[in-house]
Amino acid sequence: MKIAVVGTGYVGLVTGTCFAETGNHVTCVDIDEKKVEKLRNKQITIYEPGLEVLFERNIRQGRLDFTTDLAEGIKGAQIIFLALPTPPGEDGSADLKYVLKVADDLGHILEDYAVVVDKSTVPVGTADKVTAAIAKNAKVDFDVVSNPEFLREGVAVEDFMKPDRVVIGAENEKAKKVMEKLYAPFVRQGNPIIFMDVKSAELTKYAANSFLATKITFMNEIANLCELLGADVDMVRKGVGTDSRIGKRFLFAGIGYGGSCFPKDVQALAKSASEVKYDFKILNSVMDVNHKQKEKMIEPLKEYFGGDLSGKTIAIWGLAFKPYTDDIREAPALENITKLLSLGAKVKAYDPEAMENVKGVFGDKIYFANDEYDALEGADALMIMTEWPVFRTPEFDKMEKALANKVIFDGRNLYELENMEELGYTYYSVGRKTVQ
Ligand code: NAD
Repeated sequence: MKIAVVGTGYVGLVTGTCFAETGNHVTCVDIDEKKVEKLRNKQITIYEPGLEVLFERNIRQGRLDFTTDLAEGIKGAQIIFLALPTPPGEDGSADLKYVLKVADDLGHILEDYAVVVDKSTVPVGTADKVTAAIAKNAKVDFDVVSNPEFLREGVAVEDFMKPDRVVIGAENEKAKKVMEKLYAPFVRQGNPIIFMDVKSAELTKYAANSFLATKITFMNEIANLCELLGADVDMVRKGVGTDSRIGKRFLFAGIGYGGSCFPKDVQALAKSASEVKYDFKILNSVMDVNHKQKEKMIEPLKEYFGGDLSGKTIAIWGLAFKPYTDDIREAPALENITKLLSLGAKVKAYDPEAMENVKGVFGDKIYFANDEYDALEGADALMIMTEWPVFRTPEFDKMEKALANKVIFDGRNLYELENMEELGYTYYSVGRKTVQ
């Protein structure tokens, strides 16, 4: 099939590449000229494990190309995916301006029947708005379906190639058939394509992300309680996670969720609820708790230095919002760095993949280290913000030589308390006793 993917960011590039991998001809469209030029020069624009091999192969074999010209990109396409940003607007609702702009443009340029697919995370009712925006000027027949994306950054290729399920909101047999054919190679192991009405599909994505954000936040509250009651959240996690009704995943306590999805999607769902006069109490609490959780390490850090961080140098390990990505959107590290700078501290930061993106935010306000040990050189304390595996088993003797004080504020619970005790560190983590 000939497919167009409009918006070539984290979702669009993975989607386009993976559809090319199953034999389709895919054209990815983006308005960002620099991005498209890089992609045309076979330079990948995001870090996503496993993507580069597929990206190179499909370009080489002539199934994947890139353009800034929407009309050229959609020419002959049977399916047009919209993988456009839906950032939070001022009131917290999802801003649909990118999606509706492209829908409007499509109305002017569609030449043949096509299925237009909302892949972006969009509130209930968006497919109707997209349909109306295209229909205003369209001279040909078209269908709009909702196909929310559940991939996780860091394992996006695996998630896309072997999804737990594919959700498709479609109310027309012709469009359903097209989507079923497209996704058949991805569900060969028997995972389902779940067809439903469009509104339910739109809501499913928000329900999934909000549930996961709630699960994380619930465990973070248990962790905060553990600290006050003298319990250990890792033990509690194991105790509850083995209950098959609860499950082991998304129970790790830490300094809160970030990323380009959970924060904005929880906010957008709360806003959607309030628009229909429903007070979604849990979501409001989740946002509130997560906001506070992100800066959880600042207070103990300040206390350790007698209430004054001015002139102190803090090493930061991890900048991305989670491991295996270079995405820094809403990353807890950024908020913490901003806070540290406002308190007069100096920051030396290291991340295996996200440094370039963070340079765009802080420029020369912080020091970007060459590796994790360079970040520690002369630092007064270490803060851990992202659980990159490389930080899990560091050379502690090398750390000891570099750090001015043997103190770690670990927002991701990477180390065993006994080990820290043996090594003689002062060690703060989340939901566990402080080692001093
Ligand atoms: P992104 O910001 O990485 O990519 C969006 C791209 O769209 C950018 O490259 C931008 O230049 C381009 N764009 C903007 N206006 C355009 C236009 N008029 N024409 C062509 N291109 C245009 O965003 P993303 O992370 O890929 O997310 C896209 C959507 O997918 C969002 O709704 C998001 O909520 C959803 N989503 C994201 C993830 C994720 O993990 N990132 C997962 C599931 C769903």
